[in-house]
Amino acid sequence: MGAYINRIDQVEGTVDSFLQVLKEEALNQAKAADENKDDKTSPLFGIPYGLKDNICMEGVETTCASKILTGFIPPYSATVAEDLKNSGAVVLGKANMDEFAMGSSNENSSIKPTKNPWDPSRVPGGSSGGSAACVAADEVVFALGSDTGGSIRQPASFCGVVGLKPTYGLVSRYGLIAFASSLDQIGPITKDVTDCALVLNQIAGHDEKDSTSVDREKEDYTSYLQKDIKGMKIGIVEEYFGEGLQPDVRKRLEEAVEVYKSLGAQLVDVKLPTSDYALSAYYIISSAEASSNLARYDGIRYGFRAEGFDDLLDLYKKTRSQGFGEEVKRRIMLGTYALSSGYYDAYYKKALQVRTLIKEDFDKALSQCDVILSPTCPTTAFKLGEKSSDPLEMYLSDIYTVPVNIAGIPAISIPCGLDEQGLPVGMQLIGRDFGEKDILKAAYAFE
Ligand code: GLN
Repeated sequence: MGAYINRIDQVEGTVDSFLQVLKEEALNQAKAADENKDDKTSPLFGIPYGLKDNICMEGVETTCASKILTGFIPPYSATVAEDLKNSGAVVLGKANMDEFAMGSSNENSSIKPTKNPWDPSRVPGGSSGGSAACVAADEVVFALGSDTGGSIRQPASFCGVVGLKPTYGLVSRYGLIAFASSLDQIGPITKDVTDCALVLNQIAGHDEKDSTSVDREKEDYTSYLQKDIKGMKIGIVEEYFGEGLQPDVRKRLEEAVEVYKSLGAQLVDVKLPTSDYALSAYYIISSAEASSNLARYDGIRYGFRAEGFDDLLDLYKKTRSQGFGEEVKRRIMLGTYALSSGYYDAYYKKALQVRTLIKEDFDKALSQCDVILSPTCPTTAFKLGEKSSDPLEMYLSDIYTVPVNIAGIPAISIPCGLDEQGLPVGMQLIGRDFGEKDILKAAYAFE
């Protein structure tokens, strides 16, 4: 623990991964665990980790990097935080993020932007940018992030680490502050695929406190980590390698395909024709859900309350105007508009129909192969400020990750070499519903 705290002291000033470092608490927890008779055979025993600041931890301020939640101290812990505590893992910091998980660069944090440990003039990705950066910078051994449209995989790709978005329903969302409930999933960000499987072992499983949690038998994900993938079918989607993809990202991906061939995998061409509409559908569905989920921040129940109000309505208005950042307000307005009568059928209902088509496309494609290989993101990490004034440009960063959330299926991002500037490139492997075993196996063989 001491070594990690020293490391945080060294690099945190440059990277800014954390909103809070829990040095004392972590040392006490580690000491207590050492002294009592807990089961010390758990592979995560005593391991320090970072917890994204939209995941509740009892007694520790949890803000989603938003002014509106300043001072909110949850009276309970998320199920994932409980699970990790039971395995002996120790939270060393609450990781920075884009406000309410809305963003792809961490620049929407209302507190400070996290920097990419590979080059601090660049973004770490988002919204789990703090979680990816603290792992990449060796401030912790692993972190938990959340992924609604790519927020685990895109920052993992930008920071050269492993990030997994599990199948919807595999990991409990209880205690995760909701952005878009039908898309959100918590998942691990780690240095390698073995760690990813170890963390997933702890956090996957049925939870009656989350009505969307799926009741299925527990698996040992480490048992799928074998190098032999002969005969495994890997799907390639031609459209995913088209326009807009940075040329050296394409090159690294093509090299990865060659590696898979040499390992005896069989390449299969598959089609995902409705993917073109995924981004539009995502921004309607996620904003609609966000506008409803974020209605609860009224200045009465949580955190921040504006001063100097005339009446109750004025209190709501002032609190929400001052408490939410620009991007969050944009999403609330988009969502409210898409759900309003007269527009509901034209936008929200259409987006749900597109969602069904996207899921059908994936089901078909994944009946022809075991996993689909794609880039995680069209580019490597961009410069701070480069896209922050153009939301549409920023949204395009999620073009390969968003369809996966819409379909509810699992996907992992793993490092796949460096671009010409020496920045990490990410490769995404997408699996069938509960096909974590296949993507972990394919990822491990490549590593
Ligand atoms: N970048 C996407 C967005 O801004 C995805 C966010 C996420 O997965 N939480 O909505």
